[in-house]
Amino acid sequence: MITGYCPNCDEDKELRIEIRQQTLDVRGEGITVESEVAVCPSCGTQVACAGLDDKLLAKAYEAYRSRLNLLRPEEIRALRLHWGLSQRALSRLLGWGVITVQRYEAGALQDNAHDAVLRQIEDPRFVLDLIARSGARLSDEERKGLQQRASDTYQANVETELDRVVEETVASYSPVTSEMDRGFRPFDLERFKQVTVWFADRCAGQLSRTKLAKLLWLADFAYFRRNRVSITGLAYARAPHGPMPHGFQLLLGLLEAERTIELVEENAGPYVGEVIKAREVPSLREMEPEEVETLERVASLFGNDTSAALSLRSHMEPAWADRANGDIIPYAGADRLCLLDGFWDAR
Ligand SMILES: [Zn+2]
Repeated sequence: MITGYCPNCDEDKELRIEIRQQTLDVRGEGITVESEVAVCPSCGTQVACAGLDDKLLAKAYEAYRSRLNLLRPEEIRALRLHWGLSQRALSRLLGWGVITVQRYEAGALQDNAHDAVLRQIEDPRFVLDLIARSGARLSDEERKGLQQRASDTYQANVETELDRVVEETVASYSPVTSEMDRGFRPFDLERFKQVTVWFADRCAGQLSRTKLAKLLWLADFAYFRRNRVSITGLAYARAPHGPMPHGFQLLLGLLEAERTIELVEENAGPYVGEVIKAREVPSLREMEPEEVETLERVASLFGNDTSAALSLRSHMEPAWADRANGDIIPYAGADRLCLLDGFWDAR
């Protein structure tokens, strides 16, 4: 039983608890909630009661938060604990008053600007940026721990994202090309990677994108000519500068993101523009001896040609010349490629 003073009756009364709809002004928003209130049993006047008023306010704040989509106190706490930070450390890092975070977690209402900042701390890049700007406000131990957690999370996110892109790329590869388009081998990212790194290493600093495109094409088609199967499972389409693997830019982007290769701007000699450099030690561990021999022959027969020379030579081929840009060049044409005549005789 709660006893309280009724101003209407001007005396202390044993109050009755009722559920009533109440509308409160929260930062200019009229928020209506149902809440317990203390009522004088004699006159029906609503009487202020500290415990119940706190509950009412908390309910109104909760309704306001969900209307404006603001973080709830327990969500703020979870975000903070995710990074292993104390309330004080998080406040300092964000440049807020030392008890700001503590107040929010206790139920005080954050404004929109603070809410936006709090949401961002889920992103490790934001945290790393905060450390760079305001890390000095933390103790050495706090800063080092946070730095480590944020870096690890960031790295894990990047790898997950990369795995997803790789899966999608490989999965999307097959439906758009036929078996024949790929030389009767499912596209194999690992083989593409190994061959690319190997050519990049072999052509040391002279491998442009267009040149790699042609070396891959020659290797796949030469091998197909003899074995009726390609090496990489790449499909090739006609592009303005000659044959180009289907999805080539995306595939190179993947290798670059995985740090298997790097694209470097070169301005020396005749090779102006981007060249592909290997960031891994080349290894053809997935390849059969005859596949390795094919790559060796392609490298020694065409590896010293410039991109332009290779473009010119491929343009004379009917397999390229008879098609429109974007058309797939079927492996069936391998037998008629003049570029490959005598390929298997060469020493
Ligand atoms: Zn009363």
